[in-house]
Amino acid sequence: MSQNIPLRNIDTNPESSRLMDKIHTRSFKGYFRRLRILGGALLFTLYFGTVWLTWGDRQAVFWDLSEKQFHIFGSTFWPQDLVLLSAILIICAFGLFFLTVLAGRVWCGYTCPQSVWTWIFMWAEKVTEGDRNQRIKLDRAPMTAGKFLKRTQKHTLWLLISLATAVTFVGYFTPIRELVSNLVTLEVGKMALFWVFFFTAATYINAGWLREKVCLHMCPYGRFQSSMLDQDSLVITYDAARGESRGPRKKGADYKSDGLGDCIDCQMCVQVCPTGIDIRDGLQMECIGCAACIDACDSVMDKMGYSTGLIRYTSERALEGRDLRIVRPRMLGYAVVLFAMFATFSWAIVSRPMLTLDIEKDRGLFRYNAEGHIENSYVLKILNKSQQSQSYEIGVSGVDGLHLSSAATGTVGAGERVELPVSVSVPPESLGSEVSTLNFHLQSVEDPAMKLVENSKFTGTIR
Ligand code: SF4
Ligand code: SF4
Repeated sequence: MSQNIPLRNIDTNPESSRLMDKIHTRSFKGYFRRLRILGGALLFTLYFGTVWLTWGDRQAVFWDLSEKQFHIFGSTFWPQDLVLLSAILIICAFGLFFLTVLAGRVWCGYTCPQSVWTWIFMWAEKVTEGDRNQRIKLDRAPMTAGKFLKRTQKHTLWLLISLATAVTFVGYFTPIRELVSNLVTLEVGKMALFWVFFFTAATYINAGWLREKVCLHMCPYGRFQSSMLDQDSLVITYDAARGESRGPRKKGADYKSDGLGDCIDCQMCVQVCPTGIDIRDGLQMECIGCAACIDACDSVMDKMGYSTGLIRYTSERALEGRDLRIVRPRMLGYAVVLFAMFATFSWAIVSRPMLTLDIEKDRGLFRYNAEGHIENSYVLKILNKSQQSQSYEIGVSGVDGLHLSSAATGTVGAGERVELPVSVSVPPESLGSEVSTLNFHLQSVEDPAMKLVENSKFTGTIR
């Protein structure tokens, strides 16, 4: 679908939320606001709550940068598992495409952290400085003791929310209990302090000052979302055929005979918009799909005694009077691919080896030992990714008469890595070529199913 995205000069509209180059959003109650609060509450609970959970004797979700390990509940991921992290990002990106094709920018409007934190900051603004009209009045008023006090309260609240956000974020990388205790006793390290300060400032600036500018100018998703929409995507739309021509009228008046549509031109949809646009101008890149304008307009329609839905979720096809098609080949295709990706990822997680073996061969070619056998040296790097200590056995195969000179058993602790120097020797007459393939077998004693074979080379001379 070629989406026409008309861009309007908002400042020409005297009722726009954007006054003095600042958006003064009117708060509004309604069904979609409740959904947004639910989405935000879920994100908040997950974000602020998860960091305090424990699993065994450590933090349940913890990215240990010094040990290069990522713990998530009972699982530990290592740098070798980075491919799984990439897979998660790809699945999330694809899930976002799927959601966009289905229902436009629902992610942006309901659960994107930028939106959620902006709504919270707006709430703090309302609590300290009042609703839209009071804030506009306050902005225009000269600085007085009262204005200064309100401003101080607002920025203090913003900074407290930012600080809590930053401490929580840093707490995913440094133990949260230790971090909070060190912050309270002023014993926190310089690095942790820097990151707490950095993320406090980032949250304060993003949600307090930049707000919709992040969505409009910094987020790439808003730029390419229009290319993902099709005629059947659900987007928030003003029904111009029903609403136009717009104009004020008395409640109960026979407005149709005056040539008016259902839009009473009250501007409520504009005043509640966090990006300061007028949805009646058509689908716009600035629309983050928050549905605040639906709540506002539905309430106006209720008061006027008209049916709701002048602004609603609908598709371009449905707006033209044709059927609303949610299930369609493109959606099914996306759903199948998404399911396949998720299933593959789940299988990769479940079947990922808990014991890994890296083999480093000594750079020297070979030597003869006291028995006259040809000997090669290796360093075996054994990594135990499981949550239990593992005893292991090592074996070698590939050439007749192989002999492992070092201890063939050992133990590696949970989540630990050991480096084991070993020598392998073979009678010279057994070698069929100067370079042979050597197999190292590693098997857990506690869990014999946990076993693997890795190859290396054995070098020598042929007699
Ligand atoms: S809220 Fe509804 S009635 Fe009021 S201006 Fe917007 S579209 Fe028209
Ligand atoms: S136009 Fe409506 S849905 Fe879009 S950002 Fe503004 S209020 Fe939200």
